[in-house]
Amino acid sequence: MPRESLEVDVVFVGGGPASLAGAIRLAQLARAAGKELSIAVIEKGKQMGSHGLSGAVLDPIALRDLLPDFRKRGAPIEWEITEDRLYFLTARKYFPVPYTPPPLYNHGFFTISLSRFVEWLAAEAEKLGVMIFPGFSAVELLYDADRVVGVRTGDKGVGRNSQPKENFEPGIDVRAGITALGEGPRGTLSKGLIQRFRLDSGRNPQVYSIGIKEIWELPKGRVDRGRVIHTLGFPLDSSTFGGGFLYSLSRDLLSVGLVVGLSYLDPLLDPHQEFQRFKTHPFIASILEGGKMVEYGAKAIPESGYFAVPQLVVDGAALIGDSAGFLNPQRLKGIHLAMKSGMLAAEAFFEALERKDVSRQQMEGYPRRVRESWIQRELYRSRNFHQGFKYGLWGALLNAGLMQVTGGRGFGLFHRLHEEPGFARMRKVEEYYRGRPAGTQPPPFNGKLTFDKLTDVHFSRTAHQEDQPVHLRIHDYSICHERCIREYGNPCQRFCPASVYEMVEMDGQKKLQLNPSNCVHCKTCDIMDPYEIITWVPPEGGDGPGWQHS
Ligand code: SF4
Repeated sequence: MPRESLEVDVVFVGGGPASLAGAIRLAQLARAAGKELSIAVIEKGKQMGSHGLSGAVLDPIALRDLLPDFRKRGAPIEWEITEDRLYFLTARKYFPVPYTPPPLYNHGFFTISLSRFVEWLAAEAEKLGVMIFPGFSAVELLYDADRVVGVRTGDKGVGRNSQPKENFEPGIDVRAGITALGEGPRGTLSKGLIQRFRLDSGRNPQVYSIGIKEIWELPKGRVDRGRVIHTLGFPLDSSTFGGGFLYSLSRDLLSVGLVVGLSYLDPLLDPHQEFQRFKTHPFIASILEGGKMVEYGAKAIPESGYFAVPQLVVDGAALIGDSAGFLNPQRLKGIHLAMKSGMLAAEAFFEALERKDVSRQQMEGYPRRVRESWIQRELYRSRNFHQGFKYGLWGALLNAGLMQVTGGRGFGLFHRLHEEPGFARMRKVEEYYRGRPAGTQPPPFNGKLTFDKLTDVHFSRTAHQEDQPVHLRIHDYSICHERCIREYGNPCQRFCPASVYEMVEMDGQKKLQLNPSNCVHCKTCDIMDPYEIITWVPPEGGDGPGWQHS
């Protein structure tokens, strides 16, 4: 069957805030100059926003710049934040932290649902003539020698045995002058581009967290408007990066979640289980009392900040948003940075297209703009924050305090602080437990306050065609069955928040069984596997979670 192709000036891969802000800015520039540009955004989710998940608190600095009348245009702002609270939790008690550190000061910012926000941004882009294509997974970059010339979307209607089914449709080649990769954290094409051109050479490794959240509907009037709460401590031990959050949303909804650094030491730690335990804390349980859970989701978060941002451009392509690691771990936010990176990239793209030159040298206009912008100033001030967690929570807090008085240097007074990849910190079971009883008991899942993974997955509205090639590539099963089981106890069963990985008894031996249709596309397995033998690739376009409030 012949493959269709589409020619555009710029294609944005991934329909998140970076791509959509970039597409809008590019369309604005073209319109202001009286030029016609064809701009496309392709998104793997069934609808725009259905794969968008974040806490989320939005610093509107980039939004104000992009669409100053965003209120009039009906931007789905939940609440303006009027109250910030930070608590330290022990197993049963909670202690308010009397002083909110400046990076956590959110007054005047907004709580949002990223999925609703993205849906709105896409509609704004469409008004400017941007072509939006949800339901298409980009699976391959197209090259002309070393120049990126577009992307190929995945075939549809392929069976589990990789053979075409009756409804087979080949993927489309989207040929583009410039390809912008805004696939979110650990994007598949972004990872390939970074590896091919060694764009991360000399940079710190990107270390991620997993954010796991539920949306709760509370009894009418019980959500404290404009209040955001962050917590430290329980249920995480002091060697594990992370903390909890509760953000008030409109319509009596509350976003409650736990971030767990994917750099933990305990191979038997289960982030989903820790999140369930978090909700059983008397303080958190009292807030959720009388409510019901209505949505569940999880996503990786790039935490390493300034020193892990790779080179941003190659001939014909650029990395934007979370795919480039534009997130400020100290402020716990990245949507504003993602949007601004897309907008600055768009300005450079416009200049490159005007000059009919998309070479890396010309595209350097994008990183130059980043260096001259508030992105650089903001990330540079937080540059040594995440690395401080290699000294544990108390060392990290001391480092963060020092950063406030040393212009962001912290413990790295005379040098940049390095860190190792998150998976490399995981200890083997014997080494970690040294004869102590291994693992922790899950809290009882009562279906009211606490839920098992499968119940939670049901609330993510995740759906995949069952009859399609497995989108999790295990490069060597013998490692799972012979080494990993002995050394790490197959941690994929625990770090996956959706029960995709299960070790089951087969022919008298424990073997790995995959349940790919549960996958909520968080990318944790691609990141945290200690042997680096799992590769996540996009399933058929339109498959995956169906988030509406996340
Ligand atoms: Fe996340 Fe991987 Fe599990 Fe999918 S299979 S939910 S990407 S950890």
